[in-house]
Amino acid sequence: MKEHVRLLRCYVPGLLIALSAPALHAAPEETGALPASTTDSEPVSTPAGARQLLENKEYARALSLAGRLLEQPGLSDRERGEALLVQLRALENVREGKFSPGMETSARKIIEGLEDKALRQKLWQVLGKLVYAQDRLKDALAYFERSLAAVPAGDRKTKYVLLMNIGAVQVRLGKYAEATERMLEAEAVHDAAGFPPDSRLYRNIAGLFYYLKNWDKSLEYGEKALKLLDEDDPAYAKMLSNLALAYRFKGDLPAALEMQRLAVEKMPRQGAIWLNLSDVLTAMERYPEAMEAAQKAEAIYRANGDQGGLALALRNIAVSWSKQGELEKALEYYYQALAIYEDVEEPPKLVELYGNMIEALEELGRYREALDIARKKHALSEQLVTAESRKRIAELENAAELRRKERELLLLQKEKQAERLNVLRLERESKYQESLRWFLFAALIAACVIVILLFGVLRLRKRLHEQLITRHIQVKELNLQLQDMSMRDALTGLYNRRYLTGLLAELAKREDAWRRAPMLVVMIDLDHFKNINDLYGHAAGDAVLKYFAGLITKCSRQSDVPVRWGGEEFVLLCAGMDLRQGAELCARLRQLVHASDFVYQDRKIPLSCSFGMALFPLHPDLPPEWNWSIQMADAALYAAKSAGRDRWVAYGLQVAPDWLRQGHFDMQRLLKENVVQATEMKGEGCDGE
Ligand code: GH3
Ligand code: MG
Ligand code: MG
Repeated sequence: MKEHVRLLRCYVPGLLIALSAPALHAAPEETGALPASTTDSEPVSTPAGARQLLENKEYARALSLAGRLLEQPGLSDRERGEALLVQLRALENVREGKFSPGMETSARKIIEGLEDKALRQKLWQVLGKLVYAQDRLKDALAYFERSLAAVPAGDRKTKYVLLMNIGAVQVRLGKYAEATERMLEAEAVHDAAGFPPDSRLYRNIAGLFYYLKNWDKSLEYGEKALKLLDEDDPAYAKMLSNLALAYRFKGDLPAALEMQRLAVEKMPRQGAIWLNLSDVLTAMERYPEAMEAAQKAEAIYRANGDQGGLALALRNIAVSWSKQGELEKALEYYYQALAIYEDVEEPPKLVELYGNMIEALEELGRYREALDIARKKHALSEQLVTAESRKRIAELENAAELRRKERELLLLQKEKQAERLNVLRLERESKYQESLRWFLFAALIAACVIVILLFGVLRLRKRLHEQLITRHIQVKELNLQLQDMSMRDALTGLYNRRYLTGLLAELAKREDAWRRAPMLVVMIDLDHFKNINDLYGHAAGDAVLKYFAGLITKCSRQSDVPVRWGGEEFVLLCAGMDLRQGAELCARLRQLVHASDFVYQDRKIPLSCSFGMALFPLHPDLPPEWNWSIQMADAALYAAKSAGRDRWVAYGLQVAPDWLRQGHFDMQRLLKENVVQATEMKGEGCDGE
């Protein structure tokens, strides 16, 4: 079904929507669900009791109870009014009930006398619906107008429904200007109240535009209505049927036919749909089938007493006869339809009927009748669509269009506003993103800087560390140098006295060092050195000391330790050397001193020296007292000096006397007790004294 609707929407211009019968809708009644009466016992004889029967849909009983109540004397106006409302509403729903002119007269009297405005409004409305059902359109219109006048302020729903009903009736009466006015007013009330979209409103407006032959507008509103309807809603089938007539105009008759058949299938008891089907079949020149469909509509309308519908069905049957050449038969039906329009006021349909009749009468050569009807048609048409009413309709349409445009403009402005806000939001977002980008960029730069700085710091630390190590090494070297300096004599570069005494004390502790082989201590002293100072100057003395130190070093082995003992005295410590080997060493050094001439400032300075030797330890049985060995060597040196200088003397111990063993060293006693074995250089000495 939806497919057809889609198909249908492809056809826009000239869409025809047949308004077979304007929709009439009552204002919603109170819907409080009351318990259904299950007993046959007579309910309380009050208007309220009658109303309860009505709500239980027991229309016949409600009708009779209301009728009895209305005959009762002593009822208040209000109670009478309520009873009347039940009676009229029950009549709407029962087929057997007859709404007689007498009832109508008395009803009007009751309503006019009522104080209660709201009740009056309801009563005029239901009265209008009852006479509308009798196709008394003008009376229905009058009642609806009175009902509208009594609508309490604020009841916009009722006002809206009544305006639609009035508009629909006016359409059928051909009062298009008034109808337009009321429909648009209904639309305005609907919109102002903010009611949800209502298919009834769109259906009625679509119908109005159909009558005005404004197909575009009719299509627009018809589609709006269809969109709002549920497929299972009977109104959906009716709307579909109406819209499908468009196919007739677009020439796609098979599709139109298919849609009509679907609509009929959905609602086989709807005369209007059968009528639309017969229209399509007529357009397809399938006249017998068209007649069949029209006859279906006729039967339905006869059964439900819809005179307006019946007239349309009869006309369609007549058209079918006429198309099949049965003009006499056709006229028979046309006249039947015409007869109905004497009671039913529906001028537009009557005008159409006149048109059909004129055609048939002309074909039959009944020109006089044809002319007569043509005159009637002309007069009625003039009435229907006067120049004034056209102008009024145009004005109203313009006003409505203007209102719609304003609404659209407002919507557009709102959209624009929303768009502007959106643009602003987007701008804000993009600004934010830009600043975020900058921030990230800055963060990246900062990170790079930090990395570079870290790298720099690391490098700096490494360099500092390296510098520190270098400094450390330098300090160490310096310390070593200092240490070395503290052990050496500044003038000659030989070890000093402090070093020798430390070394000897250390050696004394290491038994293996001296036990295996004793050491030789040689003490050397320059002869008459004082004289050199005196004769050549102190600087010359210093130069001699340096020179002499060089000679000692030259004569000593790698393992020997040459020391400046102090002044012009030197000591040479030779490991593993005995006194005899010491004598050879002294002879060699003495020889060297003699052999080389020391020249200072072009002046030759003759040099000689004396040697004193002793062992360390003094004797294998004695303790390693280095002090004793130094004293013994010194004593030997003294002996050499005494013997004439420029010679060597070696002192050794044959035995170790007990007193010495006990640690009491006394050089003089040793010499006195002849314990000392002295060896001395034989031959030439050169003592100048
Ligand atoms: P002898 O043969 O008895 O040893 O006589 P001597 O003159 O060599 O001995 P003495 O002890 O009388 O004199 C030593 C002198 O050496 C005294 C001192 O001025 C000098 N002297 C000591 N140390 C130095 C020094 O470092 N440089 C210089 N130029 N003279 C020094
Ligand atoms: Mg001396
Ligand atoms: Mg001397």
